[in-house]
Amino acid sequence: MGDAGTAPTAGSSGRVVVAGAGYAGLHVALRLTAKLRDNPRVELTLVDRHDYHQALTELPRVAGGTRAADAVRIPLQDVLATRVRFVQTEITGFDVAGRRLLSAAGPVGWRWLVLALGSRPNDFAIPGLAQRALSLYSASDAERVWAAVSTALTAAAAAADPEQQRRLATVVVGGGGATGVELAGELAEMLPEVASGHGLAADRPAVLLVEAGPTILAGSSPQLVDKASRILSDLGVQVRTTAVIAAATEDGFRLADGQLVEGGMFVWAGGVKAPELVAESGLPTGHNGRVKVDRYLRVLDHPEIYVAGDLASVVDPRTGHVLPPLAQVALEEGETVARNLDAELRGRPLEAFTFHDKGFVVSVGTRRGVADIAGITSSGRLAHLLKDAIEWEYRQSVKHLRGWDPIAR
Ligand SMILES: Cc1cc2nc3c(=O)[nH]c(=O)nc-3n(C[C@H](O)[C@H](O)[C@H](O)COP(=O)(O)OP(=O)(O)OC[C@H]3O[C@@H](n4cnc5c(N)ncnc54)[C@H](O)[C@@H]3O)c2cc1C
Repeated sequence: MGDAGTAPTAGSSGRVVVAGAGYAGLHVALRLTAKLRDNPRVELTLVDRHDYHQALTELPRVAGGTRAADAVRIPLQDVLATRVRFVQTEITGFDVAGRRLLSAAGPVGWRWLVLALGSRPNDFAIPGLAQRALSLYSASDAERVWAAVSTALTAAAAAADPEQQRRLATVVVGGGGATGVELAGELAEMLPEVASGHGLAADRPAVLLVEAGPTILAGSSPQLVDKASRILSDLGVQVRTTAVIAAATEDGFRLADGQLVEGGMFVWAGGVKAPELVAESGLPTGHNGRVKVDRYLRVLDHPEIYVAGDLASVVDPRTGHVLPPLAQVALEEGETVARNLDAELRGRPLEAFTFHDKGFVVSVGTRRGVADIAGITSSGRLAHLLKDAIEWEYRQSVKHLRGWDPIAR
């Protein structure tokens, strides 16, 4: 099969292939477009299964019905320069020795590869979880969650017995990290209104947040956890900590202590892992299948392959811990990768990656949020506005980088 990236050209030895058009990969593609505008011989290729970039941080709003799914799908043709060759295909594997991505559209050869394939939901091999619970890792997932809410409330409205109504109108969210907290908050605020629209008493729906650890938002300051817990409680979300889900059955989540958590629909937001195909690549992997990199974000023993975003296993020297899978981290890593590729092409020294933590913001419900920034914890309307501002600024930055294209359409 021929090369799916492009017809062979004289410059193909200088081809940079970016696998994944998420936060990290799109940033690399956009930044390299700008940096290499005086070097047209380097080919830039971006590969993704979708022809749009997904603003994943906005998914809880789609799942809670306050934002349309299409609003979080940003068409790549609107942001990519003509300089970037986009290949829409499913990446199926890697021929590392032959320097080729394997894809449904055929192999894509590289001189340098940037791996930015993000994460997959991790069900930690909990029996029944993948079949019984919905996940929230794409705009389509979020649409499914919102549709399932409607189905559950319709079923609840049709039930005669109030107890049965209450059970069917209960949404159980597994995982009390930022995604679980944001989803639980959105749903708790929206469900009463939606219930009324289904002819169901507004006090019938409930949201349960089930977390295995001793606290929600693990790793955050006690003040942040406390403030988030208060808002959730105010919204009526029932939070259960140290509640380890052992199995998901037809009846609900079965906890390790034998208790059954019943509900009308179940969503799993309990963690992520690297996509399965990376495990089969032969590249060195660590915790949750993430790829081990050196301080320049190159795969150990494979200096021609960079990794950025959730897929990269990057240890923060200040804490000794691997950096969390966050958009903020993905963007900073993408920036370093773009700079290092540019440096390689210009014969300059590489730059070691350093994470500059800008803080942590979580929306809790449709109007409030919590934030830890520069050691100061805040909560309420301002924190929610801050989350809105971060998302708005991100979209602006994507458009701004597009503006760097010397031959913008
Ligand atoms: C619901 C939710 C809410 C979040 N909220 C926040 C938040 O508020 N703040 C924050 O900092 N972080 C948040 N995150 C985390 C953040 O979204 C991720 O850390 C970030 O998306 C990682 O960027 P990435 O580029 O590594 O991967 P992604 O953005 O996931 O991009 C990966 C890309 O690779 C493509 N891809 C993957 N596999 C293949 C394949 N086999 N073939 C072709 N293409 C493929 C995908 O289509 C995708 O475009 C949230 C995540 C979720 C799911």
